[in-house]
Amino acid sequence: MPKSIFITREIPDTAITALRARGYVVDINTGKNPPTQKEILKFLKKKPYDAVLTLLTDKIDAKVFDAVPRVKLYANYAVGYDNIDITEAKKRGIYVTNTPGSYSDAIAEHTLALTLSLTARIAEADRFVRAGKYKGWSAMNFIGTDLSGKTVGIIGTGRIGERVAYHFAKGFGSKIIYYDVARNEKIEKECGAVFVASVDEVLKQADIVTLHVPLLDSTRHLINSARLRMMKPTAYLINTSRGPVIDEVALVEALRSGVIRGAGLDVFECEPKLSRGLTKLENVVLTPHIASAREKARAEMASIAVDNIVDFFEGRRPRNNVYQ
Ligand code: NAD
Repeated sequence: MPKSIFITREIPDTAITALRARGYVVDINTGKNPPTQKEILKFLKKKPYDAVLTLLTDKIDAKVFDAVPRVKLYANYAVGYDNIDITEAKKRGIYVTNTPGSYSDAIAEHTLALTLSLTARIAEADRFVRAGKYKGWSAMNFIGTDLSGKTVGIIGTGRIGERVAYHFAKGFGSKIIYYDVARNEKIEKECGAVFVASVDEVLKQADIVTLHVPLLDSTRHLINSARLRMMKPTAYLINTSRGPVIDEVALVEALRSGVIRGAGLDVFECEPKLSRGLTKLENVVLTPHIASAREKARAEMASIAVDNIVDFFEGRRPRNNVYQ
């Protein structure tokens, strides 16, 4: 019987073509919205699948593992895998893979795009023009902040944080400071990045603070109300990591009351729901979790996910299994 895979939502055709070319049976949920866990279970019970290609919106935990014990690989189409209960998977010998490194430059570029949208007030000015409010040039219209000469503070300097350091240092000559649980000699050498002793130090010193940590127990609400108050009132906060890394209610309050100057967010604490008041603020730029939505990045993610599935079906340990 050919190996069969269920894909929980549409992904680039290249992955599907590559899997079918190997003789695997591939079924895809073509629904437009992320399926609930109940819907995923309904799909998975229709046929005896061997592997599932999941998206970061799919909640995969003991309930799913119990319901379809035959599935021994969940290939997550993302770098982050906080949507899957890894402890339970490991206990049961179920492989979980991700797509590391596939879109570090895309996320770094998006981080810069959010930053520039804020400092040059692009999104605000765009809304102004579209609303028909532009009545002629004024020396006082939308005065922004210069990016040159600013200190960029990076929290989490893994694959993505590293590229963020590179782009800010090489593109804007920014001074880079960073905090990570591990030192990163590469960015110290290549970008002159300076390691500081704590998250608090980054917050106190940086003009732009950007988050690139995974969502873990230790990073949930890493940025809370007390920490927002440590930031400069002129500073901007950028988050392209995971929404729950910031206490979003506290952030809305800090933005409303001028504790910090602005924020650029690609991810939200309870996405797709947004905290009350967030969209009413002028000093935020919001994108719908699209930092990795670039042609090259999406294609690479597809190719890595396929490699992991092939490894598994050919009897090898998948190359990007997330636990040891
Ligand atoms: P990575 O594992 O290479 O780097 C994460 C870094 O965070 C590591 O260097 C690690 O030491 C550090 N870290 C972990 N806990 C920490 C803590 N408590 N304090 C300080 N540093 C800590 O991962 P990556 O590829 O750089 O991706 C980072 C995260 O970005 C992913 O886990 C994912 O959640 C998120 N992401 C978001 C998007 C998006 O579309 N917005 C796309 C890709 C990844």
